[in-house]
Amino acid sequence: MPQTNGSTPTLAVVVPCYNEEASLPETHRTLSGLLDRLTADGLIAGSSHILYVDDGSTDSTWKLIAGFAAGSGNAAGLRLAANTGHQHALMAGLEETAPFCDAAVTIDADLQDDPEAIRDMIMRYREGDDVVYGVRRHREDTPFKLLTAKGFYRLRDALGVKTVYNHADFRLLSSRAVGELLRYDEANLFIRGIVPMLGFSQSKVFYDRTPRRHGESKYPVGKMLNFAADGITSFSARPARMILGCGLIFTLIALAILTYVLIRYFSGHTIAGWTSIILSIWFCTGIILLALGVVGEYLAKVYMEVKRRPRWHIMERTGATGK
Ligand code: UDP
Ligand code: MG
Repeated sequence: MPQTNGSTPTLAVVVPCYNEEASLPETHRTLSGLLDRLTADGLIAGSSHILYVDDGSTDSTWKLIAGFAAGSGNAAGLRLAANTGHQHALMAGLEETAPFCDAAVTIDADLQDDPEAIRDMIMRYREGDDVVYGVRRHREDTPFKLLTAKGFYRLRDALGVKTVYNHADFRLLSSRAVGELLRYDEANLFIRGIVPMLGFSQSKVFYDRTPRRHGESKYPVGKMLNFAADGITSFSARPARMILGCGLIFTLIALAILTYVLIRYFSGHTIAGWTSIILSIWFCTGIILLALGVVGEYLAKVYMEVKRRPRWHIMERTGATGK
């Protein structure tokens, strides 16, 4: 018999916010309206709430959140003392709310992901799923973002990192799935790579992703590239192994060249062109530096992990997430 999840669940919606003063008023209107409707339809309990995590914003984001918390019983805020990044903000929010909810949905503050899909997620949860991915049916983004995103999925696939295609950080997790996720206390966080490893009963709901309406992307190209690198090197040692393969191939080529040079030498052609020498010096140095770079990347990861530093610092709280 399929397992079903409890009676009426308490839902927590976790929203990471970094300088989102432009989006937040509309976001809060939409989300609290949705919670009210879901509660009225008997799908979630009245104790359901929204937790805004202010990831060290420098604008009036926290002021807005404090206003939401004061104005309604279903909003709360968690303020991090510094900007620690989207992934850590999500984990901080989940950790904060886990004891008080049966299921948690994470969604970006710009509502590019359709909040209405939360209804389907709840249905899935009630049918017994612990992990429900929000998957974009099609996406309207800048051509650059589309291209880089697609390339990134392909690359991760090729490198053997298991991820869900066209899914970002819009998902529902049951409280026991959250509990398991929180056990991954790694500093180099890439949550969407971890969730598929959790197991449990997983499913997908589909929605259309819209362009950001207010403010601008908090993921400039540099941050995006870093994130992409984390997504690969935190899960796969294959790049390091590929470099090793390259090293072997180049050593073989070097041996072949050596044989050629010796044959030329003994057959009396002693004036070898220096072009080839210069070329190979540069080429080999390039490969060596590349290899060092990859090794360095992994070493840096290990370095950050062994420090066991706290991953975020909480500055203050507003509102109550308690049942
Ligand atoms: N965000 C965050 N900390 C950061 C960067 C982003 O909490 O350092 C939040 C941001 O407020 C938003 C979500 O992460 O709610 C996703 O960011 P954004 O929409 O800018 O990314 P994009 O959709 O452009 O990939
Ligand atoms: Mg966005």
